[in-house]
Amino acid sequence: MNPLVWISNKLMRRPSCEEVNRFLVEYVEGLLEGETRDKFEAHIKSCKCCGPYLDDYRTTIKMAKTSYDVEVPEALIDHTLEFLRVRMNDA
Ligand SMILES: [Zn+2]
Repeated sequence: MNPLVWISNKLMRRPSCEEVNRFLVEYVEGLLEGETRDKFEAHIKSCKCCGPYLDDYRTTIKMAKTSYDVEVPEALIDHTLEFLRVRMNDA
């Protein structure tokens, strides 16, 4: 391929990826509508860098939400309070 063509292809693609990344949060939260969402999905499906990126993003969000849902076991709290109490008495 002609290097000039390759470079111009790169430059042509880039803004589109950046645009997609700008809408990523809205898309994942389900806030994108109509034409914007269609364009976003079309790009995600055809783009080798945005597709995996979206997957990663979703996984990260899922993990973050999961760890918020995890409750600290009461036994651990008791243990921590007991530990602090003993420590404070020592001081
Ligand atoms: Zn892309």
